[in-house]
Amino acid sequence: MKEILIIGNGISGMMCAIHCAELGMMVKLIAPGPSEQSQSVMAAGGINAVTERHEEGDSVQCHVEDTLKGGAYLAGSHAVEGLCSDAKEIIHYLERIGTVFSVDENDRPVLRAFGGQTYKRTHYCGSSTGKHIVSALVMEVRRFEAAGLITRIMRHHFYSALIRDGRCYGALLYDENARVLVPVYADALVMATGGQNSLFGKTTGSNRCDGYAVGKLFLQGAALKNLEFIQFHPTTLETPQKRMLISEAVRGEGGRLFYKDGDRKVFFMEDKYGPGGNLMTRDLIAREIIATGRDVFLDISFIDKKLIDSRLPEVRDICAKYRGIDISKEPIPVAPSVHYFMGGLAVHKDHSTNIQGLYAVGECASIYHGANRLGGNSLLSAMYSGKIAAESILGENALVERANFDSYIQAEQECFKKMLESDSPFAAMHIRDLLADTMREHMSIVRSADSLSKGMEDVRYYLSVADRIHYDSSVSAYINYSLKGILTLALAALTCADARKESRGAHYRSDYPTATEEYRAATIISYNEGNMLVTFDRENTYED
Ligand SMILES: Cc1cc2nc3c(=O)[nH]c(=O)nc-3n(C[C@H](O)[C@H](O)[C@H](O)COP(=O)(O)OP(=O)(O)OC[C@H]3O[C@@H](n4cnc5c(N)ncnc54)[C@H](O)[C@@H]3O)c2cc1C
Repeated sequence: MKEILIIGNGISGMMCAIHCAELGMMVKLIAPGPSEQSQSVMAAGGINAVTERHEEGDSVQCHVEDTLKGGAYLAGSHAVEGLCSDAKEIIHYLERIGTVFSVDENDRPVLRAFGGQTYKRTHYCGSSTGKHIVSALVMEVRRFEAAGLITRIMRHHFYSALIRDGRCYGALLYDENARVLVPVYADALVMATGGQNSLFGKTTGSNRCDGYAVGKLFLQGAALKNLEFIQFHPTTLETPQKRMLISEAVRGEGGRLFYKDGDRKVFFMEDKYGPGGNLMTRDLIAREIIATGRDVFLDISFIDKKLIDSRLPEVRDICAKYRGIDISKEPIPVAPSVHYFMGGLAVHKDHSTNIQGLYAVGECASIYHGANRLGGNSLLSAMYSGKIAAESILGENALVERANFDSYIQAEQECFKKMLESDSPFAAMHIRDLLADTMREHMSIVRSADSLSKGMEDVRYYLSVADRIHYDSSVSAYINYSLKGILTLALAALTCADARKESRGAHYRSDYPTATEEYRAATIISYNEGNMLVTFDRENTYED
């Protein structure tokens, strides 16, 4: 029986685990905490699919075209076709396992439109779609756990992959209880570690999704893709802990963006782009908000309070709880913030990477969203990629013989022990904070050669001190050892942004403000003996 190791228990990791188990494989599902604490539970607005209950005129092909257009034609077209064609089955699967989507008085699903969609095709569960999907998947995981096919292991973190001669044999994990590194061998290793939030500090996402695993795998030879494409959500609310997402659902229900000019309200998106202006793609709205140079507000107070209560209860509660704002009476002060990472581990359409036996799914893999993701497509791709990876793993040969990693493991354990005992003036958490300041300043919504080179200079300095960090026992050993991987990933992202001398999707350069044919290709970055090499995948080698 094949043994599969999955790192990360959000929607993509769970979906992959369930499907592997259904296909008769044994799974270990690893994460620091329960699935209920993964970022997936934060997903509010919904999941896209064209089902038999679609709006008149809509079709799978239209979903494909919207996705490719939204991604500024950098997404893998075959992969996107697979994603959109399977969406209907995914919705039905979710319904079968207990996800209850919102319906109208005739029991028909109510659909909404996110930005960049030609038709309404987003299915939702009130404003807590992620929570409902996670709950349903957790029940399925438990069912397979009872059958002995899935083992959930918590309080464990990824440390490194066990790779020899281009083949992955499992991973070295940090066991937070015993405070030691433990090897876990497997026929396939699946990464499902989500986004790269700690590059920017305060974002709309979870700080558990910090990008370390992707950065570490890059150092170990995995190719990364499209790192420069980082989605800034245009409407977030400042709070002391994080940027709270004001879901696109507010604009989907008719919410209007404006700024004040004296007593006058200026509806700048509608003025410039017509009645659909508030539902333009996220990158464009984020840039327009910055361009106003004013405090911007989102108003939904004019709709019936009952609709707010039934369709936007979480937005209502967030605004009331964190800022004392009653959205049925007053507008919401909003500003853009980092929200989603289109880039990550470069995967083929079967979700394999350039390292045999290593797979990636969900937000940490890059394939469906090109230069910009459409709202509602991420939950869909998390579900779909988990399924596809399981099917590919089934088709791959099982390991005949395990490579011997004894000396590697021993060396890493010594290195880890040395880190616990280290003493230097540089504290890991402090460097993480400095990194976030650098990235927010130099790799923001608008970039230039000048800002990117300043960013790279800063990160190179942080990297030069990362090996001499002062072990900070007030935070987890994970925070300490993850620093170098996170810094490396940040430098790789800046390097990709510097190499792409055009503006496309979420990547906007003031010194190259238009898209050019020359760069109509995904960015691939690889690491070799201390050097980062950027290429543009004009032959679409990562599609097939
Ligand atoms: C506020 C918010 C609202 C959103 N709303 C929507 C929406 O309405 N529709 C939509 O389509 N998308 C939405 N998204 C995006 C979507 O939620 C995510 O892209 C998706 O849930 C990612 O799922 P995932 O399985 O890839 O990762 P996650 O759910 O992020 O799970 C990652 C897992 O990896 C674990 N992990 C991370 N690093 C390590 C490590 N080093 N070692 C071990 N484990 C690790 C984490 O603990 C976690 O278990 C939203 C995102 C946010 C932040």
